[in-house]
Amino acid sequence: MASAFEYAPAPESRSVVDIAPSYGLFIDGEFTDAADGQVFKTVSPSSEEVLSEVARAGTADVDRAVQAARRAFEKWSALPGSERAKYLFRIARIIQERSRELAVLETLDNGKPIKETRDADLPLVAAHFFYYAGWADKLDHAGYGANPRPLGVAGQIIPWNFPLLMLAWKIAPALATGNTVVLKPAETTPLSALFFADICRQAGLPKGVVNILTGYGDAGSALVEHPDVNKIAFTGSTAVGKAIARQIAGTGKKATLELGGKGANIVFDDAPVDQAVEGIVTGIFFNQGQVCCAGSRLLVQESIEDELLDSLKRRLSTLRLGDPLDKNTDIGAINSQEQLSRITALVETGEAEGADRWSAPCELPSAGYWFAPTLFTGVTQAHTVARDEIFGPVLSVLSFRTPDEAVAKANNSQYGLSAGIWTEKGSRILAVANKLRAGVVWANTFNKFDPTSPFGGYKESGFGREGGRHGLEGYLDV
Ligand code: NAP
Ligand code: MG
Repeated sequence: MASAFEYAPAPESRSVVDIAPSYGLFIDGEFTDAADGQVFKTVSPSSEEVLSEVARAGTADVDRAVQAARRAFEKWSALPGSERAKYLFRIARIIQERSRELAVLETLDNGKPIKETRDADLPLVAAHFFYYAGWADKLDHAGYGANPRPLGVAGQIIPWNFPLLMLAWKIAPALATGNTVVLKPAETTPLSALFFADICRQAGLPKGVVNILTGYGDAGSALVEHPDVNKIAFTGSTAVGKAIARQIAGTGKKATLELGGKGANIVFDDAPVDQAVEGIVTGIFFNQGQVCCAGSRLLVQESIEDELLDSLKRRLSTLRLGDPLDKNTDIGAINSQEQLSRITALVETGEAEGADRWSAPCELPSAGYWFAPTLFTGVTQAHTVARDEIFGPVLSVLSFRTPDEAVAKANNSQYGLSAGIWTEKGSRILAVANKLRAGVVWANTFNKFDPTSPFGGYKESGFGREGGRHGLEGYLDV
């Protein structure tokens, strides 16, 4: 087995970000305490250090924020699209200017490697604002008729795995189409949304157009329930997504739900093995596997299974796990103790059900929340680790003999968010992709994102699309 190369530490500087000891809610352009004075702490998952204390929104704060968004809606929606675009372009440029600071902040609050926040999250965040800024004055040409109207106040609830990127996916199209926003970030990653609130002020965005409510699930639920919210955009677990769908049934609120996944990454025997191995690693170990569209089920053609698994294990043994602020780190911390417990429990179930576990040999730091890159072989479709979303750095390996078997196994899931195909044959890519029930299908790559490309699921992965021209529809009265 190859051992990891030794690298000198290459820490990114923490001093580029100034985190205040406490933050309020951002309502009507001002930072304010929660009405009942409640607060909670946010920690760095790699060290368990408390980073800051933030206000915890309650029902009264939700109401205040929705009212502010409602007041702002009249003027904001009446602005010419070209004027709204100016604000969005300004926000995009400020994000670029402050991207190093925001990347360090996100790494501290979330635990993901700086390599990812710097090279993936932040560039995509800016790109989303640039992209939807470009649409703001062209809505007549978006395919929804002349002068399509916004919905009103959008209540947006996001998860912790890509905090600022999910914010961008939600806020950029909402503002471009003339809606105003109340957004609730996840409780373990509130900070980048609060820095975004500061960016809104820096950009001179009119008061009340964007409101940020840090808090727990109950604040999210109160936002969904509020009678003056016209649209709910939610990214998170399928369980909460279903609860939201029940809550808004019959209210006339429009909804976009982006939920869980169990993506199949299909490797045919003619695929270039080394490239496929890199794609498998990107597919499931990017962001510690805490990715809804992760390629968490590897389907490998039987004739190359042994060769591929040998290469994969060799590659996984070279991944560097540790300080997320180190520029050489590949695998950062799991986002929370709660998530680590969920991953651990599912992996124990996999072992108890008889699948074979292999974990990369690596030392786990003593503080913080960590899980070594892991794979399961000897997995059948009935195994829990082949069916349930683990949302961690854990790959389940299954094999197939024919393309039809690969498609049948890939589609044998309650989810339908993503899939990957690895083969040299273009015709096979097209034939297989057409049969996969997945919102995104990557060919000879994985986890590639672009603001121009719509993203969303089939089945229990949710409905509605974010990104691209399709992403405008969820915020327009069409
Ligand atoms: P989660 O519990 O559903 O949380 C998502 C967000 O909803 C958080 O802000 C959460 O607040 C809030 N929330 C919790 N209960 C709520 C309720 N009853 N009503 C309204 N809002 C509520 O999900 P998670 O476990 O933190 O995140 C992981 C899950 O998200 C995975 O299943 C993953 O697949 C999914 N996900 C999907 C996508 C996608 O694009 N399809 C992207 C990322 C993640 P708190 O933080 O306070 O709990
Ligand atoms: Mg945190």
